[in-house]
Amino acid sequence: MKKLGFGLMRLPLKDPKDQTNIDIEKLSAMADEFIKRGFTYFDTAFPYHQGCSETAFREAVVKRYPRNAYTVADKMPPWQLTSTEDLESTFRVQLERCGVEYFDYYLLHNLGVANLATFEKYGGFDFIKSLKADGRAKTIGFSFHDKPSLLDEILTKYTFFEFVQLQVNYLDWEDPTNESRRCVEVARKHNMPIIVMEPVKGGYLVNLPEEAAAVLKDYNKDASLASWAIRYAAGVPGVFMVLSGMSDTDQMNDNLNTMQDFKPLSDEEKAVLDKTVEAIKSKNTVPCTSCRYCVDTCPSNIAIPSYFSVYNGAKMFGKQFNHYFSFSVLAQSYGKPSDCVECGACMKHCPQRINIIDTLKLVKDEFEKDPPEL
Ligand code: SF4
Ligand code: SF4
Repeated sequence: MKKLGFGLMRLPLKDPKDQTNIDIEKLSAMADEFIKRGFTYFDTAFPYHQGCSETAFREAVVKRYPRNAYTVADKMPPWQLTSTEDLESTFRVQLERCGVEYFDYYLLHNLGVANLATFEKYGGFDFIKSLKADGRAKTIGFSFHDKPSLLDEILTKYTFFEFVQLQVNYLDWEDPTNESRRCVEVARKHNMPIIVMEPVKGGYLVNLPEEAAAVLKDYNKDASLASWAIRYAAGVPGVFMVLSGMSDTDQMNDNLNTMQDFKPLSDEEKAVLDKTVEAIKSKNTVPCTSCRYCVDTCPSNIAIPSYFSVYNGAKMFGKQFNHYFSFSVLAQSYGKPSDCVECGACMKHCPQRINIIDTLKLVKDEFEKDPPEL
């Protein structure tokens, strides 16, 4: 199996303001290209695109290809569970939405302290084992964004898992919050094959500050910024799959070209990435991956990742009129950063452990004080 997986969480939209309005025609064309070039792995999840990623996958792939032309991964959402029975009913909804009778890969979604407790309370571990036994999940694992010590505890206690999905990218490798390197080391200690998520950190590593991008372009003007990140992740020992959320054919072709005949980074290239990391960190941007897990929980309907994106743009390229304009467009449709009531609901869902409350205050200071006339 080729090492690049199609992440179905940032799909092409017909209306950029409506996450459920997926452009199936464009997605089908992307899936065609992906499969034509020998790639097979698709990764979806219950909450992606507010439940519409799974059905979009059914329309673009399942209805158009024989079952042996693709492999599909899906995940059990802990936040849907209020009883043991919810495991089976949620799983059935997922099979139906995707239009399949089994998943090739099935995961417990985002195991961390809180979700671990939920799965233990409702029997999530026994349930995923039963899926393997009855053939409705061929390979079972879990995704993980928490501390290496917790990963070690889980893999020591639950020895039946067959893979683990980790956030790995060159910026998080030595990051004290994400601790990618240490999580990979724990997985390797337990002989766990690794699937990488967020290799480009939700697009963050393809929209680099000028100085950081220049380090990479000076070394190799032809290599795309994404290709550096994908090659880095795919070259980590133990990794058998790298997921990339692709939104258009250009992104897809770039990734396919990178992974068609994958070449790991040389030591010299890794040293270039070390310099890039230094240049990125000097900008103090918000490490938001736009996963949107925080959004639905907000009572003030604040477009959290979109505001962070505007803020990051201003930090990286200097604040310009278009940043104010983007901010004002967002503020017309959603709550403003100053509407945050500091309830903290969003922060319980953020896999990047961003202090969203404090960061929204920075965004407010940047854009809500003395805005220019638009
Ligand atoms: S802390 Fe603020 S941004 Fe977060 S959910 Fe509550 S109101 Fe929304
Ligand atoms: S703030 Fe956190 S949860 Fe929200 S989109 Fe960004 S990374 Fe995801």
